[in-house]
Amino acid sequence: MTDQGTENLNLPHWPQFDDKERAGVLRALEQGQWWRITGSEVDAFEEEFGEYHGASHTLAVTNGTHALELALEVLGVGPGTEVIVPAFTFISSSQAAQRLGAVAVPVDVEPETYCIDVVAAEAAVTDRTRAIMPVHMAGHLADMDALSKLSTATGVPLVQDAAHAHGARWKGKRVGELGSIAAFSFQNGKLMTAGEGGAVLFPDAALYEQAFLRHSCGRPREDRSYLHRTSGSNFRLNEFSAAVLRAQLSRLDAQIDTREQRWPLLAGLLAEIPGVTPQGRDARVDRNPYYMAMFRIPGLREQERNQLVDELVARGVPAFAAFRAIYRCDAFWERAAPMETIDDIARRCPNTEEIFRDSIWLHHRTLLGTEEQMHRVAEILAEVVARR
Ligand SMILES: *Cc1c(COP(=O)(O)O)cnc(C)c1O
Repeated sequence: MTDQGTENLNLPHWPQFDDKERAGVLRALEQGQWWRITGSEVDAFEEEFGEYHGASHTLAVTNGTHALELALEVLGVGPGTEVIVPAFTFISSSQAAQRLGAVAVPVDVEPETYCIDVVAAEAAVTDRTRAIMPVHMAGHLADMDALSKLSTATGVPLVQDAAHAHGARWKGKRVGELGSIAAFSFQNGKLMTAGEGGAVLFPDAALYEQAFLRHSCGRPREDRSYLHRTSGSNFRLNEFSAAVLRAQLSRLDAQIDTREQRWPLLAGLLAEIPGVTPQGRDARVDRNPYYMAMFRIPGLREQERNQLVDELVARGVPAFAAFRAIYRCDAFWERAAPMETIDDIARRCPNTEEIFRDSIWLHHRTLLGTEEQMHRVAEILAEVVARR
């Protein structure tokens, strides 16, 4: 019985590519210019990605972590400042702030959407707060109405960590139309990928110009006399990656359509399994790209959860344990200045304390499978859960 499903399940692979990516790589190669300053692929990708998300200014960068760092840097995040982040996220959200010498302040998430709890975020604002970073967990947009209100009331800008949210929409608005900076990742597992890569959408030209300088060692675009106007680093995306990303973008909408069709089916089947609760969906999210198919088994201990994940993987289901609460990672404390302890933070993050131990996510390629495969995945999970 154990490995029965493995060879039959046969879900789609990730990443996906075809002649479009092949042509793109060759086009970049034969262009004979392999960096963005003299090539045209990065420029073209920025234009296409920005237009797709309704953003007026878009900057491609080396990866999603750098995208967050750059976004925070142009907002003045540095030593003596604080950035509010959800406690349940991939570590880059907090590492980006810490790398700039700022204090990352973790706050709790909501129990159904796993996105930042806006009331908790509000309570954490101080006169040192320079940014609030909602993470659109698994593709589900954080409550952008409440966050925008909080941002306006406090004067603290938002930086959307949109590493999971390519193509998402909130009440008809695309990520670039929500009035704040948004940072994306194109790492190998993300919804579109060149292996590595990132992008930042800016709501205005001034922030974009600052970011352009800082992502290219402070150098203006047309500079030929080593005029380094700001401090910075090299976060430039290369031409090959941009060519691949242009091809990936052209496929994104059709893939989101498929996942949007599969998730209600899979979530419905998962919800029928005793003890299993799929990630909820706020009705104001009218397009969810479903970076992860997430669910909780409330009450599960971390060990049991990890064992379930192992069993699912053995049955051919691409399952993963959820992100560890960031304040429970050694990395968080290496750069932490707060006078707080793990217990202090855990006490104010009761939902995170449960979710990081009792939730499981399935790779988004699962949701690119057939309806029949959704039934198979749910059957396997039901068997594995029933046997524990
Ligand atoms: C993947 C990811 C990042 C970082 O992106 P990289 O391109 O891997 O640096 C940041 N935040 C979240 C939530 C992510 O999942």
